[in-house]
Amino acid sequence: MKAEDADRTAFGPGTPLGAVIGKDAYNKLHKGFGYEVVGELLNHFPNRYLEVGELTAIATLPLGEDVTIVAEVDTITQRRMHTRRGMLVEVVVKDAFGPEQAHLRMTFFNGYQALKELHTGTVAMFSGRVTRYREHLELTHPQYAVLESAADAEPRPIPVYPSTGKLANDAIRKSVLLALSGVDEAGWPDPMPAELLRRRRLLGRAAAYQAIHHPHQLRDAHRALRRFRYDEALLLQLAIAQRRAHRRGQPAVPRPPAAGGLLERFDACLPFQLTPGQRATGAEIAADLAGTHPMNRLLQGDVGSGKTLVALRAMLQVIDAGGQAALLAPTEVLAAQHLQSITRALGPLAAAGMLGGDEHATRVDLLTGSMTAARRKEVLLRVASGETGIVVGTHALLSEHLQFAELGLVVVDEQHRFGVEQRDTLRAKAGATPHMLVMTATPIPRTVAMTVFGDLEVSTLEGLPAGRAPINTHVVPLAKPKYRTRLFELMREEVAQGHQVYVVVSRITETATEDDGGPAGAASPAADGAAGRGGADGQGAAGAAPEKIPRDTVEAMAARLRAMPLMEGVRVGELHGRLASEDKARTMADFEAGRIDILVSTTVIEVGVDVHNATLMAVVDADAFGISQLHQLRGRVGRGGLHGTCLLATWLEEGHPSRARLDAVAATRDGFALAEEDLKQRREGDILGSSQSGRKSTLKVLRVIQDADLIAAAREDAEAIVDGPGGLEAHPALDRAVRDWVDEDMQAFLERG
Ligand code: ADP
Ligand code: MG
Repeated sequence: MKAEDADRTAFGPGTPLGAVIGKDAYNKLHKGFGYEVVGELLNHFPNRYLEVGELTAIATLPLGEDVTIVAEVDTITQRRMHTRRGMLVEVVVKDAFGPEQAHLRMTFFNGYQALKELHTGTVAMFSGRVTRYREHLELTHPQYAVLESAADAEPRPIPVYPSTGKLANDAIRKSVLLALSGVDEAGWPDPMPAELLRRRRLLGRAAAYQAIHHPHQLRDAHRALRRFRYDEALLLQLAIAQRRAHRRGQPAVPRPPAAGGLLERFDACLPFQLTPGQRATGAEIAADLAGTHPMNRLLQGDVGSGKTLVALRAMLQVIDAGGQAALLAPTEVLAAQHLQSITRALGPLAAAGMLGGDEHATRVDLLTGSMTAARRKEVLLRVASGETGIVVGTHALLSEHLQFAELGLVVVDEQHRFGVEQRDTLRAKAGATPHMLVMTATPIPRTVAMTVFGDLEVSTLEGLPAGRAPINTHVVPLAKPKYRTRLFELMREEVAQGHQVYVVVSRITETATEDDGGPAGAASPAADGAAGRGGADGQGAAGAAPEKIPRDTVEAMAARLRAMPLMEGVRVGELHGRLASEDKARTMADFEAGRIDILVSTTVIEVGVDVHNATLMAVVDADAFGISQLHQLRGRVGRGGLHGTCLLATWLEEGHPSRARLDAVAATRDGFALAEEDLKQRREGDILGSSQSGRKSTLKVLRVIQDADLIAAAREDAEAIVDGPGGLEAHPALDRAVRDWVDEDMQAFLERG
């Protein structure tokens, strides 16, 4: 029958590879990459292309790496081996003429084939590992493919594929071409609506496969890549848009502002004016809270921009409307800080039932893992009865014992330290889905937010409260003794003026860092890299790794300071995540009360900690930290109207690449500019967090920074499709593509919103 005939010759993405490229080639590809079906091989995209017209510059080839080059045979000689039977063929190839010309030597054992095919002047593609033997560059395990002579048709760019040592580029290329021969519109229906492709001027899928693997010109390959990037962007945005549509379809209890309530009273007593940014973001949030569907909003703003106040006002609005609010903080230190600043800001408004409390007052409670059972029980009861309006806490809030009378709003501080499940646990504590506000001090560009934060609406808090003292940041070269001495003198001078000092180091002990474990470290894999908290185990260390610089520790630094004659009478404290919570709390309280002059600490003081009298921060081994982290850290000083100074001390010499990061931080106070710089320096996988989860990123070709325009376009298209007549289901092929594409990882990733 006709149909059967067609079935036998044409094939599709699911056809077993062996049937198309032959058993041998299949075995090799399967061993190298695990591919089973044609579609997988065709999605093995080239890294780059070789232009046949140009010979590859040999002198600049990376030693020790597998390369594929185009070169011209200079000499070919054969000789018999003395000790063994057989013969060796030695081929020397060269690149361009002229003074820069370089040669590369390679040896084929029993190279009869090479002897037949390669002659002086033959241009061929060679693959192998670049090594150096005496003064010569060599290509070991050489493989080659003679390129069509110039007389043959047009010279096409040659794709260079990601390869394993065993599989030569040419073998992959030949298999791909075989697989490509069966690709046509019929067997490979394009899931993208034709109208969309036309409007966005994108290649059809079959054409894109042809163009990426067998381009006539480089331009074709670029067009193909654009199409595949758009595919990823659209699938991602469709998945996000679906999730958003689902959320918008869910009911939430509206919490509109109420006249004469806590919020009005609070605003009336504020000792300062809200910044325009606080007013604008506050209005966005207030409108969301009044809606009948759950808010899911990210509040991003620079360090010190006053996010906490915006969040607090949202909590008050919810309380006025009969709800409770939970504030989830990443560490106990931060939770305690939040409690204190909220209680302080609310004054009598937070003293329900207490002497001097306002008649409208509510209660603010703290819930952490280290509280005594008796205290805990009290708080649990008050939250369950509805007496507590705001409960601040760490992951202890997630405990199943905590029940709310009427949870209306969940505020998550520094969301990337929490996993998806944890947030869902909290959400599940409310009858209807509560509103959700996520705060982050690591601002990210809009298109990155669209990709990384999925279904979150983004409010950006611009500007800083007026009267904020500037922070001067300087890089201090520790290798110069004069500067080293000066660093400690500056600390001493600050203390002499009655101010306080932070000394931040990268390690707790020789063997422990803050990132080694603990609840704060158990972050959602996907988000950690996203928000620039790379720190000692992220990009910071990656940049400085080879030197193996010994790092200062909390203990050693504190001991050193205490032993210095210069520091006589100066009170030195120590703070890090491994201390017992009581010790942490006591140290923090001592520092706040001015009973400690110099606090030696790890990054536990990074976020939120608010001590107005602290004016100097010295970050020792600053190169061990990421850009965003340094920016966060220095936000701890200069908060009380006092001029702040941040010293970034490093052993790295000037001109070291990792010092550029420090210079960038010293050069600007603009958190957005720094965040962008930070993202640029990260690999894509880090942004999407795949490096943490140890799995390949679901995004194969899409780049969240460079492809910003494509992502924005895809978002628009995705919304139009999902909100359009019939929704995504009206496009069955596309619907299936989204479902196939959203695997488990991706699901978790999307649900971070
Ligand atoms: P963020 O959390 O964004 O880093 P905070 O909310 O901790 O910033 O605010 C930093 C400091 O600025 C706090 O001491 C807060 O009381 C103060 N602050 C907040 N808003 C204003 C404002 N509009 N005017 C003056 N000071 C403000
Ligand atoms: Mg804060």
